[in-house]
Amino acid sequence: MKELLAEVARRGARYVSSIGNRRVFPLAEDIARLDALVGPLPGEPCDPAAVVALLDDAGSGATVATTGPRYFGFVTGGILPAALAANWLAGAWDQNGALVVESPVAARIEEIASGWLLDIFGLPAGCGVGFVTGATMANFTALAAARHAVLERAGWNVEEDGLFGAPPVTVVVGAEVHVSVLKALAMLGLGRARVKTVPADDQGRMKADALPAIDERTIVCIQAGNVNTGGFDPAAGICARAREAGAWVHVDGAFGLWAAAAPARKYLMAGVADADSWATDCHKWLNVPYDSGLAFVRDPSHLRVAMMLRAAYLHMGDAREPSQYTPEASRRARGIEVWAALRSLGRRGLAEMIERNCQSAARFAEGLRRSGFAVLNDVVLNQVMVSFGDAEKTRRVIREIEADGTCWCGATEWHGNTAMRISVSCWSTTAEDVDRSLEAMVKIARA
Ligand SMILES: *Cc1c(COP(=O)(O)O)cnc(C)c1O
Repeated sequence: MKELLAEVARRGARYVSSIGNRRVFPLAEDIARLDALVGPLPGEPCDPAAVVALLDDAGSGATVATTGPRYFGFVTGGILPAALAANWLAGAWDQNGALVVESPVAARIEEIASGWLLDIFGLPAGCGVGFVTGATMANFTALAAARHAVLERAGWNVEEDGLFGAPPVTVVVGAEVHVSVLKALAMLGLGRARVKTVPADDQGRMKADALPAIDERTIVCIQAGNVNTGGFDPAAGICARAREAGAWVHVDGAFGLWAAAAPARKYLMAGVADADSWATDCHKWLNVPYDSGLAFVRDPSHLRVAMMLRAAYLHMGDAREPSQYTPEASRRARGIEVWAALRSLGRRGLAEMIERNCQSAARFAEGLRRSGFAVLNDVVLNQVMVSFGDAEKTRRVIREIEADGTCWCGATEWHGNTAMRISVSCWSTTAEDVDRSLEAMVKIARA
């Protein structure tokens, strides 16, 4: 075991140290080496060292360098050194994060990290916090708590009696709602298409003055950080109206919530803390390994009731039991890497990482504009959209940027235009990485 782990550490270190020098998207021939993994299930056991060697030799080349400094696809953070190292140690521990009695360390670390996170986001210290797989599940988890709360007010117990015959619940979303919120609503029986949709402005922000009538059986889903523009819904006005009406406000802040950590971006978060629940990701902007998301609920009792799991053999103590806050029972102790990332960055390191990424996005926008290309959004955060001309040309440029290998960016549609999306979310991206990527983009687009 000892030699095996040392060997995998050597191989992992080799991968990590080469990440900045390799092509971002693999070549077809690198992907073809995966054929070495194909074959019938072996009849006999084999040496674990040979398994790891095969995996590295065939698999490492077919990865996308998403942890490298020039991957700008989707919203994809890299992996902080402390988070990767803690993940390896936690892998050796293999703790079940469900119950205190299964892992005192996992449970305590979640509590410590929860306190730090609530402080970073400016959320009430008493919030319930669930460590889930990502923002999709965080939206689901928080909206389950919302569903419980609004129906309880109407005298209906949704956990016991389901939605058949329940009083109707109104769900309000913005025109630019993230699909994961719609998926969560679908999974919760609230319906993807049953929502009332509020129009959005040119940056994808909900128009607060177009909010429909809301009451105590309404859940308003707002967004902190649009995936295309980085724009924030006007939370202050919406939360004030919801407070008056007794409605629930849920915030999807998968990456945008992290704006709270950077003093110069904090203004975007105005009013967000007045909501009732929030969802965010750690595997995006906190740069921890997959999978890692967080659900926060102002009144933790709603979350606990929505996530309740009881059996005589599932020993629940007096302390916070992690599984009272998540859909999962058994799960990996993903709070460990969150804690390690925050412990290694500190408040200043986190602020600098977020701000550096935002400034890199601004540098991209400036460089692209200077080269004569149209930037389609106000670059307030870490997201940039650029058009290189018509849809066909923009798509061709994106394909050729992938083939060139210097960097990687995805495509999107924005208000009838095809655009390339640049998201700067990796801790190790420098101004030189931005300039090197810009040079490749502009050269390809001009050609
Ligand atoms: C990424 C994202 C999600 C979904 O997060 P996953 O971690 O992929 O589940 C939800 N909302 C927004 C705004 C996002 O950017």
